[in-house]
Amino acid sequence: MIPPALARLSRVWFPTKKRPASGVENGHAKLIRAGFLRPSHSGIFHMLPLGRRVQTKLEELVARHMEHMLAASRVSLSAVSSQSLWDKSGRLENTASELFKFSDRKNVGYLLAPTHEEEITALVAQTAKTAKDLPLRLFQITPKYRDEFRPRHGLLRGREFVMKDLYTFDSSKESALETYDSVRLVYSQIFEEMKLPVLAAKASSGNMGGNLSHEYHLPTPLGEDHVISCDSCNYVANEEVAESVLSDQVVSDTTFRVWRGITKDRTKLVNVWYPKQTQPLDGGALREYTDLDISIAEVKSLIPDLDAGVEDALPLWSTAAAAGGTAVELVNIVDCRLPLSFSESLVGTKPTIPSWPKNLTPRNQVPVSVSVQNTNQWNKDRPLNLIRIQTGDKCPSCASGHLKAEKAMELGHTFYLGTRYSEALGATILVPNDERKAVPMQMGCYGIGISRIIGAVAELLMDEKGLNWPVAIAPYSCVIVMGAGVDEQDAVEVYRQINQIGRVQAKYLDVVLDDRQKTLPWKLMDADLAGFPIIVTLGREWLAAKRLEVQCRRLGVKQAVEITELPQIIGKLHGDL
Ligand SMILES: [Zn+2]
Repeated sequence: MIPPALARLSRVWFPTKKRPASGVENGHAKLIRAGFLRPSHSGIFHMLPLGRRVQTKLEELVARHMEHMLAASRVSLSAVSSQSLWDKSGRLENTASELFKFSDRKNVGYLLAPTHEEEITALVAQTAKTAKDLPLRLFQITPKYRDEFRPRHGLLRGREFVMKDLYTFDSSKESALETYDSVRLVYSQIFEEMKLPVLAAKASSGNMGGNLSHEYHLPTPLGEDHVISCDSCNYVANEEVAESVLSDQVVSDTTFRVWRGITKDRTKLVNVWYPKQTQPLDGGALREYTDLDISIAEVKSLIPDLDAGVEDALPLWSTAAAAGGTAVELVNIVDCRLPLSFSESLVGTKPTIPSWPKNLTPRNQVPVSVSVQNTNQWNKDRPLNLIRIQTGDKCPSCASGHLKAEKAMELGHTFYLGTRYSEALGATILVPNDERKAVPMQMGCYGIGISRIIGAVAELLMDEKGLNWPVAIAPYSCVIVMGAGVDEQDAVEVYRQINQIGRVQAKYLDVVLDDRQKTLPWKLMDADLAGFPIIVTLGREWLAAKRLEVQCRRLGVKQAVEITELPQIIGKLHGDL
């Protein structure tokens, strides 16, 4: 066996670039400049050695939890799936625009899988036949593919990304829900080990099916989701499912605003009426609302086929109205804070009423059906609140708490799927004592975005000087940098000492020696850019008094230490990072 060599940066391909002369640099740009990855095509990246080390550590951390804490078995399914299988589950049509589809020489349709519910269900259906074959917990960590309309923010929304996906198969709903709870617990442990302040938010299931799901969100202004959390109890939900408690009322002499939306088929114009200004019920400053405060989720609960991407709905609708042939509709949705008399004034089709868009006369006078909705059609007791939950609103779950609304990025998702896929794909088990009867298996699926965590950590923890990795996923935990005139044997001795700390304190410490032929300031700048958590320097202090300098930018530590103090100091830093 080849003995483990001393890790030397001179042997690692680590192509860093110079800092750009001007402009703000985001985490993605830093990942490229620090030599972790390079873009190859739109939304597709090559991982270079340091990026690959981060990915490997993260994959190992997640796999360890799957195997040890959940007794899940690791598989590796092919990235190629068939269109006919996806047709069976009904998702070929639903997700068509985002699938990378292709056909082979015999004209059979395939796709590059964005997720593997179909394939794994078909696989398990062939092998597990009775309740004795279950439970099954299978996971993999593999590249997935999604042809994003607008790939952006580097690893945060790429077209090829690495994901951990776990699929669970149980024989009853009770045991499937127990599985769900155990996975949730393990997810918290995974994010805790990376020391990431992730919030587990109640979520909706979207097109995955099932009715129980949670999202794991990292609060950051760069996020595209909104998470609502209480400052007093453990209520956390994503904006789509968060419940609101009305915390304000319109100020007297009310004025209102209207936002116009349109349905995907362009026949229905949606007027969303909301107050311009309100007064919080418990006093406090007046609140002013604009179109950005409208809860699109709430509007969509009334108008499911709303096209949320349209900025100027009126011309599209008037074109449809003028073309004739199809019935056009005008739907008024009124926020509960506006008085009933306001809703009443909207009924009718005369251009004088406020609901009628000014300057709009359908050319051939097509009849327009006008309606008003001012109640919540799903829950008559819940007022129709068209304004997004605001920081400071009351908590729906406890008496004293106030909500915080913040932007966040989704890093993981758990779904209880029930029989959504097992039924469609024939994954059934025979009922004990009645072998003529078969029932569908109870499933769950659980994702963690590996690539996305790398991108998110880069964005969230970076600073002016460079990246900043949590020690659990850093490319190396510690780098030893030596200045001119220092004997390399001394640096090697420090390397051995630090390695020993890991062994004695049972910590995973991977040390690397920066032996590149560059100046000390250059190497220190490079170490900061790459974001090694702990930097140990043998510089002038070493030559003068055999003292090392230990630096940790993230914790604001910079101190001179004797070599004998190293175990205690590095052990402590490692624990805090
Ligand atoms: Zn609360």
